[in-house]
Amino acid sequence: MKAIVIGGGIGGTCAAIALKRFGIETEVFEAVKEIKPVGAAISIWPNGVKCLNYLGMKEALRELGGQMRYMAYNDFAEGSTLTRFSMEPLVKSVGEQPYPVARAELQALLLDTYGRSEVHFGKRLSHVEEAADSVTAWFEDGTSATGDLLIAADGTHSVVRKQVLGYAPERRYAGYVNWNGLVDIDESIAPADQWTTFVGEGKRVSLMPVSGNRFYFFFDVPLPKGLAQDRSTVQQDLQGYFAGWAAPVQKLISMINPETTNRVEIHDIEPFMQLVKGRIALLGDAAHSTTPDIGQGGCAAMEDAVVLATMLQTHSLGIEDALLRYQERRAPRVKDLVLKARKRCDVTHGKEMAITEQWYQDLRQETGERILGGMCETILGGPLE
Ligand code: FAD
Repeated sequence: MKAIVIGGGIGGTCAAIALKRFGIETEVFEAVKEIKPVGAAISIWPNGVKCLNYLGMKEALRELGGQMRYMAYNDFAEGSTLTRFSMEPLVKSVGEQPYPVARAELQALLLDTYGRSEVHFGKRLSHVEEAADSVTAWFEDGTSATGDLLIAADGTHSVVRKQVLGYAPERRYAGYVNWNGLVDIDESIAPADQWTTFVGEGKRVSLMPVSGNRFYFFFDVPLPKGLAQDRSTVQQDLQGYFAGWAAPVQKLISMINPETTNRVEIHDIEPFMQLVKGRIALLGDAAHSTTPDIGQGGCAAMEDAVVLATMLQTHSLGIEDALLRYQERRAPRVKDLVLKARKRCDVTHGKEMAITEQWYQDLRQETGERILGGMCETILGGPLE
């Protein structure tokens, strides 16, 4: 059996690694010559970590991951702590740690685990042709590749999605802009072993530790879509949006490197239940595009990869049957993740400011039990309990 994998991001590489481990032949095609991830880092929650462990990356991931032992929310203006609690109860109940990691390092780990030299870079898919017992991927350079199945891990702007669904769903602007990057850890901003988030005015500023004594930081600001972006004014822009915020936030803004700070307008796509058609399967953001508000988009791609490979390995009624079983298991799970993230997004970013203000009040009473309980439920919904 041979699988054609389109996309060499998190989803495509995880799928290729998983299939290869089960002895299924794979060929990975990636559009760009060099992958430049859209964000600086990513939090891999224990459901994602378990998938990477399962795929043989346990030790390597530990090396890359930051130690996030505590979680805290701070008031935006005062900088005072609204709530702070240990993440140990979460780790104990799900049986694994979360690991925030720099994206470039995660991408390198995934490519090296699969075999970087085996990936065909600079191959942009144009369309897919289906036959009774094969699938052919056609690339913009006129070349093609044929396999028994095709895994479309070609991201949120997937060209294969329309062919699977029969229509092209629109991406939905979630109403806020996210700036993210990496800075050296400075404990006058936040403790080195804590996920710290300053909240107020429907905005947030967050810091998570990654390896190499660095913080992954991000700023969220509700803004209209399509504003002009200019790297040279990132710090002034953030100073304006966060005027009146506490001293650690001002210090963070002064420390960021505009050249390596990413600006992303956050989108998602209304969930759909069809993830496969014949011998074609959508995987990762191609199958489910979510806002990053519960940090689960990449983790869900890792879950997809494990489930898809398992269905192909453990069932013998043919490829189409195995893909339908993948769809049956994944569609409700990823719908739930997208909608949970959307709900969190709206509360965090002041869609209805009265609800957001109530959340700020609730945080003052939070012991960690409610927040960690919600996270546990999400994490335990993954395929590797
Ligand atoms: P992508 O990473 O987009 O990869 C798709 C690949 O396919 C790309 O390399 C692309 O070049 C290639 N490609 C595209 N079109 C073609 C084509 N026609 N032919 C060939 N190749 C093609 N997730 C988490 O789990 N935790 C987090 O903390 C988190 N934080 C996030 C923060 C932000 C600001 C954002 C925007 C997202 C975040 N996510 C997070 C989500 C996560 O980044 C995505 O879900 C994940 O990268 C999806 O991986 P993917 O492989 O499906 O898609």
